[in-house]
Amino acid sequence: MYKFVVGVGILAAGLVAATSMAMAGSCPGNPDALGTSRTITVDAAAFPRIGSMQYKTTLPLNDHEVLITFDDGPLPPYTNRILDTLASQCVKVTYFLVGQMAHAYPDLVRRIYNSGHTIGTHSQHHPFNFGEMGLPRIESEVDRGIASVRAAAGDPRAVAPFFRIPGLARSRQVENFLASQSLALWSADEVADDWFRGITPAQIVRKAINRIEAKGHRGVLLLHDIHPATAMALPALLKELKAKGYRVVQAVPAGVRPPSVPELPASMVAESGGWPRVVKASLTTGTIKQIKHKRHHVAKTEADKELAASLAKKKSKSQTATFDFGAIWSNR
Ligand SMILES: [Zn+2]
Repeated sequence: MYKFVVGVGILAAGLVAATSMAMAGSCPGNPDALGTSRTITVDAAAFPRIGSMQYKTTLPLNDHEVLITFDDGPLPPYTNRILDTLASQCVKVTYFLVGQMAHAYPDLVRRIYNSGHTIGTHSQHHPFNFGEMGLPRIESEVDRGIASVRAAAGDPRAVAPFFRIPGLARSRQVENFLASQSLALWSADEVADDWFRGITPAQIVRKAINRIEAKGHRGVLLLHDIHPATAMALPALLKELKAKGYRVVQAVPAGVRPPSVPELPASMVAESGGWPRVVKASLTTGTIKQIKHKRHHVAKTEADKELAASLAKKKSKSQTATFDFGAIWSNR
């Protein structure tokens, strides 16, 4: 892995070009892969707040450089599908995992890390009112989220000190707390509205590309690895980025990262029969506000049985599960 510390303000254009050339064409089995052109080391001292959607500061990406991020997971089978797509293109991204989800699917957390991606956190329960929460709850959500993801990863060093606020619901209190913990606060430069109900994969691709182009042909893109439409859009999005001459940059934290973490058996994804598959796992209504499911949800707990019963009443037009983490956004 090639690493560049851009955070200290040294950006050696020649070295970046050399790195891009060295890494291009190094994707096994796919000589035309989009690939990952370079890494950028991010720490809170150099980059306390990232993302022009909410802040004056963002990462110093060059022309036609994008940094891709995925929020709210992990969740099979969509996280699996997205990891497959990223691997086929040798694209490395940054995940902002929800603690409760990481606890439910530790095998996927480890697969994400061992696939070479970066893992940050996104609170324990993804509360929608982050911007109105008092300090004790902010502290609890942030700290427990980090603890859960670290435990799921099996090595605390595998989790970067990167935090994205649920729903991007910022407040001065949240920002001050994150700064006090030396956590880099990630907003975004672009979103693709992939949490909107009924959005199509083609619409996600178009919104992502249009907004990246409108922001000076660069940016930190926010997607979600829990939505089927996002999983379906990703191959076309990466193809179009490649066709338009974009390069992918991966954010990495400062300091030592383990080369890998011990793998766990993938026990959470159920049933054969092709993708999209049925989710067979213990889910709690505390994190998951609403699921729409075309096929049968396999319930293990009483809470899941209730959820499954409500799902049976709400037939979805979209394919399989849609988690309603984005409700706070849809209402804007
Ligand atoms: Zn989120």
